[in-house]
Amino acid sequence: MQFCPNCGMTLVPTKKDNKIILVCPKCNYETKRAAKEISKIKHDKEKIVVIGKTEEKVRTLPKTSAVCPKCGHSEAFYWLVQTRGADESSTQFFRCTRCSSTWRETS
Ligand SMILES: [Zn+2]
Ligand SMILES: [Zn+2]
Repeated sequence: MQFCPNCGMTLVPTKKDNKIILVCPKCNYETKRAAKEISKIKHDKEKIVVIGKTEEKVRTLPKTSAVCPKCGHSEAFYWLVQTRGADESSTQFFRCTRCSSTWRETS
């Protein structure tokens, strides 16, 4: 732990210009050198990877009778996607329950 040479406050690690530096919360004194913990802090960033989230979603989707253009199967999952910018219309998507091929509704 380091202290501010000006006012004695505990310095707080703060991100600046892609570096972690120590900053005094009271007088905004900044250390010129990066904090020692730099490598640790950097490496712990966003390691969370969501696996199988899409599959989980698909499994809970409602089914409807639609003919798959790929294999001709007559049952598919379906969901609606709001089309960005387009006059609030939504596009219906289908995914074949047999071959998992995905297609959008053509009107
Ligand atoms: Zn200070
Ligand atoms: Zn199919």
